[in-house]
Amino acid sequence: MKILVLNCGSSSVKYQLFEMETQACLAKGMVSRIGMSGAVIQHKPHDRPEVTMSAEILDHTVAIENVVAILLSPNHGVIKDKSEIGAVGHRVVHGGERFTASCLVTPEMMIELRKLIELAPLHNPHNIRGINAAFNGLPGVPNIAVFDTAFHHKMPDYAYIYPLPYILYKKYRIRRYGFHGMNHHFVSKRAGEILGKPREELKIITAHLGNGASITAVDKGISVDTSMGFTPLEGLMMGTRCGDIDPAIILHMMGREELSLHEANTMLNKHSGLVGVSGISSDMREIQEEMDNGVKSAKLAFDMYTYRVKKYVGAYAAAMGGLDALVFSAGIGENSWQVREAVTKGLEFMGIHIDVERNKSARGKEVVISTDASKVKVLAIPANEELVIAADALEILQKGSTN
Ligand code: ADP
Repeated sequence: MKILVLNCGSSSVKYQLFEMETQACLAKGMVSRIGMSGAVIQHKPHDRPEVTMSAEILDHTVAIENVVAILLSPNHGVIKDKSEIGAVGHRVVHGGERFTASCLVTPEMMIELRKLIELAPLHNPHNIRGINAAFNGLPGVPNIAVFDTAFHHKMPDYAYIYPLPYILYKKYRIRRYGFHGMNHHFVSKRAGEILGKPREELKIITAHLGNGASITAVDKGISVDTSMGFTPLEGLMMGTRCGDIDPAIILHMMGREELSLHEANTMLNKHSGLVGVSGISSDMREIQEEMDNGVKSAKLAFDMYTYRVKKYVGAYAAAMGGLDALVFSAGIGENSWQVREAVTKGLEFMGIHIDVERNKSARGKEVVISTDASKVKVLAIPANEELVIAADALEILQKGSTN
């Protein structure tokens, strides 16, 4: 069976088509600038070069029509008929407390999902738009929702409740939810497989360091704590997001500069993190380049970034009462030996010993980067959230389960 995976943002749709028998990705791509002038489709069939096209794409429905058309196209396509697409798997950012596992999309389920928009107003509306567009563009094909939050739903209450008036949790469901769950689940499972031990016997910390970044304590296969919270703003310093700060700063700045809610939100989500501190870029490659050129603000941003990851490694090892494996994943975690080196330096007291050469040579592939004698194994494992979504979708179809 072939499964189409969709990840819909406000003005973009990322897609991948998988052949599930072999788990091969047949084609992938992205539609960007949806609703703006000059929308762009980048499409890469597995066996031919990438093509880029422009089109007039006003909404997600038209975007998905274009995706289906290009998958069928004689020159760039990988399927002959729409009916080859057996299911569509959707990344849905927020499942709240209602959705604790992937599920088949049904009209009843969509009513529940819409109720969660208030928890994730920046993400869920676009995911819902994508589901509706897939319903229209591929009638009769089952849709499966896979949630970023689901893997974290077993966190203990003392980890997910905030020290705020408890009524806020009861009334508004203000609590830590956690995100990037698909990848934390995937790489912790892969780590167990690579180390030849069931994940159920291991204490693992998974660091997902992409544009967004989060770190999770996975104790015997269960996410027991994670750094992103009520929204993806909490926790680690990120490309453009601040991560952990004193919340009083926001109140102070809103007062001093009379910032509106929207402006404060933009400052914390878009103008902070690596780009905010360095004044250069949210992209770690550029930060590293400028650091090597001796630019002080780039070095400060790099040092803050890696220091904050290191603090969480210590905290989560304490939370689990030990550590067997530390995993680095996503764009920065997979590719930047400098970040991995800086995060792990000084953690020898915890039994973390990096092999310098293994670390330097690990880029975009699964590698154990610790020394053979290291008590804690350290791994770099590429993220593959799309394959997790496709695999979940297949499992749901085979089980025929709804949520
Ligand atoms: P997203 O969260 O949008 O999926 P990615 O997981 O692709 O993002 O991660 C993007 C980040 O990875 C960027 O900060 C980018 O600079 C960083 N990155 C990619 N390759 C490298 C590299 N070779 N060295 C350092 N950072 C890298």
